[in-house]
Amino acid sequence: MEVIEEIVLATTNRGKLNELEKMLDGWAVRVRGLEEFGPLEEAEETGSTFAQNARQKALYYSNLLRRCVLADDSGLQVDALDQAPGVYSARFAGVDGPERDKANNKKLLELLNGIPDEKRTARFCCCLCMCGSSQEVLVEVGGFLEGIIATEPRGNNGFGYDPIFYLPDKGKTVAELADKEKNTISHRGQALGKLLLQLKPMLDEK
Ligand code: IMP
Repeated sequence: MEVIEEIVLATTNRGKLNELEKMLDGWAVRVRGLEEFGPLEEAEETGSTFAQNARQKALYYSNLLRRCVLADDSGLQVDALDQAPGVYSARFAGVDGPERDKANNKKLLELLNGIPDEKRTARFCCCLCMCGSSQEVLVEVGGFLEGIIATEPRGNNGFGYDPIFYLPDKGKTVAELADKEKNTISHRGQALGKLLLQLKPMLDEK
């Protein structure tokens, strides 16, 4: 089996890079971000599922760079809205910039106005796809976090829909969790854990 010595994470987000680096600490693999490769034409995200978008991005950048690439796509599915906002989670309210998250949360709360708790079930999803340097799909995994949409925002940590995503077991919204606690249970944390399990046979120990 081919040994992977380098993974390009299809993001320019420093937080996501740090997270992957931390997870791969102990393994002889270099993690690189897209910004190391100069200005690149951005991948399209035209899929109707998170898995399709992650695969589209991984294939695009692995073809462009001829390197092993890991791509992700994530978002929120709300059962009462037929799984919306789904792949449109980031652009749900059509607002860009610093007010984006607030506008998305407001729109979601308005759409769910009057809907009782038992029908406000939702999940955060994260799909990861890793392609080798010849565009072969090596790993595809998904991680999920189940919860319900609260009736008003609570908490100041996190980002996106965290302040209105309520975890009944914890009696808190995700925005009320400390970073470490969120990372352990989150859709992203779950997906990264599954990825590592499948990657280990392709990695050398440091
Ligand atoms: P991305 O895949 O990281 O770009 O995330 C897409 C969108 O999904 C974000 O802009 C958020 O609106 C939402 N989202 C994804 N993960 C989370 C999370 O952990 N908390 C809150 N919102 C999230």
